[in-house]
Amino acid sequence: FTVPEPSNEPVKAYAPGSPERAALQEAIAAARSQVKDIPMYIGAEEIRTEKTQSLHPPHDHQHVLGHYHQGDTGHVTQAINAAMGAKHAWENMQWEQRAAIFLKAADLLAGPYRDRINAATMLGQSKNAFQAEIDSACELIDFLRFNVKFMSEIYAQQPPISGKGVWNRTEHRPLEGFVFAITPFNFTAIAGNLPTAPAMMGNTVIWKPAHTQIYAAQVLMQVFREAGIPDGVINLIYVDGPDAGDVIFSHPDFAGLHFTGSTGVFQQLWKTIGKNIALYKTYPRIVGETGGKDFVIAHKSADPKAVATALSRGAFEYQGQKCSAASRAYIPSNLWEQVKEFLLADLASMKMGGPEDFGNFINAVIDEKAFDKISGYIAAAKKADQVEVIAGGTCDKSKGYFIEPTVLLVQDPLYTTMVEEIFGPVLSIYVYQENHYEEALELVDQTSPYALTGAVFSRDRYAIELATARLRHAAGNFYINDKPTGAVVGQQPFGGARASGTNDKAGSMINLLRWVSPRTIKETF
Ligand code: NAD
Repeated sequence: FTVPEPSNEPVKAYAPGSPERAALQEAIAAARSQVKDIPMYIGAEEIRTEKTQSLHPPHDHQHVLGHYHQGDTGHVTQAINAAMGAKHAWENMQWEQRAAIFLKAADLLAGPYRDRINAATMLGQSKNAFQAEIDSACELIDFLRFNVKFMSEIYAQQPPISGKGVWNRTEHRPLEGFVFAITPFNFTAIAGNLPTAPAMMGNTVIWKPAHTQIYAAQVLMQVFREAGIPDGVINLIYVDGPDAGDVIFSHPDFAGLHFTGSTGVFQQLWKTIGKNIALYKTYPRIVGETGGKDFVIAHKSADPKAVATALSRGAFEYQGQKCSAASRAYIPSNLWEQVKEFLLADLASMKMGGPEDFGNFINAVIDEKAFDKISGYIAAAKKADQVEVIAGGTCDKSKGYFIEPTVLLVQDPLYTTMVEEIFGPVLSIYVYQENHYEEALELVDQTSPYALTGAVFSRDRYAIELATARLRHAAGNFYINDKPTGAVVGQQPFGGARASGTNDKAGSMINLLRWVSPRTIKETF
């Protein structure tokens, strides 16, 4: 068995009139025409409960996509038992066999399941076809294929040196217990990666997706089962976070948390784990990728059109609901008028509506709670002195949760929308005096607690080097003359530090190594 050399899955264009667009449209129509019954998957069982909740497209909230069966604390215990029951066989399976299963899952997503998973992401999470394709198809396929490669490299690592009459070796054991994967609504690829990365390394997993992601999660679970992941290795439950946490974080076999979501929730979970630390058989691994307040800073030498394009794409793709989305920008006074002109022209060309119409670039935000939070920031900005709404500002939730791409020009670089994560289509811009670049770098570095992504635009090498040095800790993914979104697995390993996460770089060997607990063996003869 040789692990194939991975390369990034090519992105399909879904061009007008193409057979691939027709097939995707057919999958969307098929999904819309049925109301799915969505069970939990624990061990070999599909679990249906008395309590069901309906799922709706965020852009068409009266339409029902399906009903999922909500579980309770008893189901969490059942999932832990299933995970612990499957553990022995799974961790003793040859790693090559495990690898073959995940490679098959990637092939299923690349082939027969591609339209189905893209349609589910488009409808359930309100993503346009391109955004769904780069997420639920390409990025997830890449996570699986590249992680298999990294996994093979971990198992093939050189042993430690051995003196005469001694054989030293290292065994990459899985963790002693189960892993809890908690996934956010905004990426289907993350939903797929968080349970599979620990599973690849021989762990068994309980997976709790955001409720707004359950529609796509079920399709992923079908892929995992068809690929041959044995029953109990990945258990999918729909239980409220705090209920699931109550059972899991007080269980002695809890051995790892693989989390992506907001900073506040992650800090809360870490505190609970800390409080319960003496209960566990082993110190749990805690891996979390959390919030962001991602920046774009332009130097006076930058190309204004490139800056404007980075802002319109970086801030508004997927309605700004990417952890990497550009949400604060620092533009020098000499470039501002030109940047503004290009930016407003680009925004004027962006159509808004449901993703079923492939002409719509902007779709809805995820749910009413997000809509209310984002529109609250916009309403406050409209009232604030020294803030000017220069684009968008209209919010309408009558049919779907639609918020126009909104640009705020702020005079105070500490105004709330410049420092707090909004997680929606709101970009705040501060114009600095063109010769105060170093002060602007200081603002970027010091005014937000987050450090996920960021970009500098400049045609001056010294200014680039200065930003790279001064912003060393301000972003885990730093872009020079490019937008801060769109990291590609295998090319730009992704993750941030400070309040943005433990920076274990999703889709890299660093991440996979968190899911093993090596044993060193010395044999003398
Ligand atoms: P969220 O924090 O609201 O929810 C994330 C997950 O945590 C969901 O599954 C949710 O049900 C669960 N959860 C909530 N409270 C819980 C509790 N008490 N116990 C256990 N689980 C609980 O985040 P979201 O709205 O789904 O996602 C958006 C957030 O995710 C943003 O802050 C964004 O920046 C972040 N994010 C970060 C990255 C990254 O790589 N850094 C990637 C994607 C999203």
